[in-house]
Amino acid sequence: MRYLLDAMLGTLPTYLRLCGHDTVYALDRDVEADEAVLGLAAEEERTLVTRDGRLAARADDAVLLRERDTEPQLRELAAAGVELTPAPEPVHCGRCNGRLVRDDAADSDTRPAYVPDDADPVWRCLDCDQRFWKGSHWERMVATLADVRDTSGETATDG
Ligand SMILES: [Zn+2]
Repeated sequence: MRYLLDAMLGTLPTYLRLCGHDTVYALDRDVEADEAVLGLAAEEERTLVTRDGRLAARADDAVLLRERDTEPQLRELAAAGVELTPAPEPVHCGRCNGRLVRDDAADSDTRPAYVPDDADPVWRCLDCDQRFWKGSHWERMVATLADVRDTSGETATDG
């Protein structure tokens, strides 16, 4: 699925990308005005996720959120039918939504210092060069998603 997240929802894109969703954050595209947000959603055929009821009503396809905090918002997304299962292999950069590729151990010389030596596998974003691995930050997000799925009350479709 493809999503466009409105301003103020800055922590949600990372979660959706972790679940394999192609997710654009409006402010990353310098898009803030209503018309521009609606235009981008239509042009790229994205489901708009927003806390603005009037904006949601004008979009072809939208999920309206009412909560302010990330975890309750994730429950609202789950209830709206958004699949929140982490992808087995990351595809979209959590920072910029660029495409991720495996960073071979042979390339470890060129890795930035923030990547732990024992991180394996490591993925690299083709757009922003950010590296990712399944460390403690990743595990916390996966645990949060599992908690949301367990308690959202909605049974996920089996496919
Ligand atoms: Zn990136």
